[in-house]
Amino acid sequence: MLLAVASCHAEQGFNLSPELSQREQSFNDSEDDNIAESFQGQGKAILTFDDGPHPKTTLLLLEQLKSAKVKNAIFFLVGERIKKYPNLVKKIDSEGYMIGYHSMNHRNQVGMSPKEINQDIKTFKLLLDETLGVNYSLEYARPPFGGMTTKTAKVFSELEKKGTLHIKDVMSIQFVQKIVADKIIKAYRKNDLKIYLWHIDFNDWKQRIDLKHAKKKFKGNMTQYWLFHEMPKYKKNVFDNHITEDMPNFLKLICNTSNC
Ligand SMILES: [Zn+2]
Repeated sequence: MLLAVASCHAEQGFNLSPELSQREQSFNDSEDDNIAESFQGQGKAILTFDDGPHPKTTLLLLEQLKSAKVKNAIFFLVGERIKKYPNLVKKIDSEGYMIGYHSMNHRNQVGMSPKEINQDIKTFKLLLDETLGVNYSLEYARPPFGGMTTKTAKVFSELEKKGTLHIKDVMSIQFVQKIVADKIIKAYRKNDLKIYLWHIDFNDWKQRIDLKHAKKKFKGNMTQYWLFHEMPKYKKNVFDNHITEDMPNFLKLICNTSNC
């Protein structure tokens, strides 16, 4: 079985953390000297798709992104699926979308040694280079399940739930340092990878995209960091609708009002 869980934080609970308020305050106070400055999509809606590629989703998504004229999308791929579907990886690249690291097999890296994480990144990079036939400039990474310990996952989930998570948080190194396990950050940095979390998650691995929720979240704000999954097997029927119906509607909604 390749991937047991779709969402980056599907296994995490939504429990209140007693230290939440204090931590939240310190996130909001954090300086903005962050990695967002170097991101070409800054000031725009950024779409990210985790866990692919997949033959049932990738090509459809690419068609839809293209027809909606979306420029800023990152596909956080899983190495085992790159091996299985190399042509889909080539297609993502040739359409001009970015590819990010999402591990070789979606194992939770919190339980891995720094050496194992380092090796996983190197194996992924080599595989991607071989697949594309170039020395790919791999810059972006999203650890499976956000690379969070149970404790910090609770804090993150609570911020999400309260709607107080902002793009400046998830793109800032200070925030990442508070949320993601130290050994993961160190291993990623050693390999020149920038960690990107997310701030709007529709839980699309288990339910349809809620456009009302999207509108509420969007509020005309140009910069949003949306998370979707390529995980068609997760819930039957939900995903079919998600790709064929919900995603085009979602793209229409954000691309008509924003430079996406
Ligand atoms: Zn994932």
